[in-house]
Amino acid sequence: MEKDVIIIGGGVAGLSAGIYGQLNGYNTEILEMHSLPGGQCTAWKRKGYTFDYCIHWLVGSAHGAFHDIWKETGALNKETVIVDPETYVTMRMPDGEDFIIYSDIDRWEQYLVDMAPGDRKPIARMCNDMRKMGTMQLFEKPSFKRNLLDLASFIWKSGPALRTYMKYGKKSVDEYFEKLGFESKVLKERLLGIGSAMEDFSAIAFLFVLVWFSQKNAGYPVGGSMPFTMRMAEKYKSLGGTFTGRARVEKIISHENKAVGVRLTDGTIRYAKYIIGACDLHALMYDMLDGKYVTPQIKKAFTEWPLFTPLVQVSFGIDRPIESEFHTYQVIAPGEVIGHTSLSTGYGVSNYNHDPEITPEGKCVMKMLFDSPIDLWENMDKEEYQREKENIAADACKKLEKLYPDVKGHIEVVDVATPLTDIKYTGVWKGAYEGFMPTSKNMTKSIKHTVKGLDNFYLTGQWLFPGGGLPPSAQSGKWLFQWITKKDKKKFRTA
Ligand SMILES: Cc1cc2nc3c(=O)[nH]c(=O)nc-3n(C[C@H](O)[C@H](O)[C@H](O)COP(=O)(O)OP(=O)(O)OC[C@H]3O[C@@H](n4cnc5c(N)ncnc54)[C@H](O)[C@@H]3O)c2cc1C
Repeated sequence: MEKDVIIIGGGVAGLSAGIYGQLNGYNTEILEMHSLPGGQCTAWKRKGYTFDYCIHWLVGSAHGAFHDIWKETGALNKETVIVDPETYVTMRMPDGEDFIIYSDIDRWEQYLVDMAPGDRKPIARMCNDMRKMGTMQLFEKPSFKRNLLDLASFIWKSGPALRTYMKYGKKSVDEYFEKLGFESKVLKERLLGIGSAMEDFSAIAFLFVLVWFSQKNAGYPVGGSMPFTMRMAEKYKSLGGTFTGRARVEKIISHENKAVGVRLTDGTIRYAKYIIGACDLHALMYDMLDGKYVTPQIKKAFTEWPLFTPLVQVSFGIDRPIESEFHTYQVIAPGEVIGHTSLSTGYGVSNYNHDPEITPEGKCVMKMLFDSPIDLWENMDKEEYQREKENIAADACKKLEKLYPDVKGHIEVVDVATPLTDIKYTGVWKGAYEGFMPTSKNMTKSIKHTVKGLDNFYLTGQWLFPGGGLPPSAQSGKWLFQWITKKDKKKFRTA
């Protein structure tokens, strides 16, 4: 065997697994179907403009267990500049009014009270619930490494958060808002607008988001996604890891209930002691392993847990600077149409003028994002697809000009990335860019990293934790090598 470990997929999870593997003395190789590392955490260039695909907010940008991982993997270093936005998002309501969600909970509370003084009590209750969630300690160690002392310390420190969790853990964000009992019609409409955007979205997940912003621990690393993953890739290579691009794994080879290697689409066969699946979970279990090892848990997840609705991203290169009062607007426009997508709630528009590495001097980069159900994209022929992209570009430009009249006549480049783009370049199942949606029913669940009946094969990545995102993806790589080193009776090292 040439390698101790083969890692299928070079996204953030695969890179993290590779880095911790190398740090612990394993000779690893990442096989990545794309030419570049990064997976969905990526960006691309068009006519001198950089269009970023991923990072809007990075949990762990300042402190805590996730921050340790970003430092250990080199994703963040001393030179990385983090921007902490004053607002999480500003909702442009259909009546033309703006509803601001401030990153700071105290400031948001005051803003809401000024808007609806009669609802002072439910507003205070909601903001207090958020503050209580802020006491939740994230586990640094995986479950198999935790001892009684870790658990006692967790319960002691996270007490207020745990009590809030017990109260609302099974509620959706809509049910939560109902329960708080707001009187103000305007406030109710605006708050319910946040919830209804995501069917059965967990109340706890909602309460958590502003906590991280308020703690200034969900900032934006200047430069965005590409430098972020490139720093991880550099770290991996500097530790002796081998990154092989344009290497698409077709099958996982097993022998006597042990994973022993992989076969690439070009017919090459590679053997290793351990095989790690750091790519799409559905493809791993149903295609690469022919459905032979699908555990009841994975089967249940794919049949019962909702997936994130895929996104269309329209990026704009604008040949003049455009000022924005807020960096991101969520325009509430249910039923409006872009291309053939009827918008469920609306679309988001971000201005990158807070990032000098992305915004060229004297110009402006903006992007629009909207949900577009996967069934609208399946079975499209090439011509239909091309036409749809053109229609989206035209509709999106009109909407952008309405929001920012100054862009008229200055849009130099329009780039449309669809759910099929994401699937083509990363293989993500149904375009579900963060895997399983966190709902009131699966919020506390996670998919096991071992697969019953197949030794020496492990799972890592966004699909293991409902809600996905960069931090759990990277953490799953670290936890996995804590497991492997324990199994091999080695001390786990992070440096
Ligand atoms: C538009 C957008 C915005 C986002 N914003 C944020 C954000 O602000 N904050 C946040 O935390 N998260 C965000 N996310 C989510 C985040 O990008 C993902 O959760 C994370 O990147 C997943 O990492 P991963 O390594 O688990 O999976 P992926 O990034 O999907 O990586 C899987 C890798 O496996 C490779 N692969 C697949 N099949 C094969 C095969 N057969 N052989 C070899 N290689 C294969 C793929 O090419 C890919 O490189 C966003 C995602 C999108 C799309």
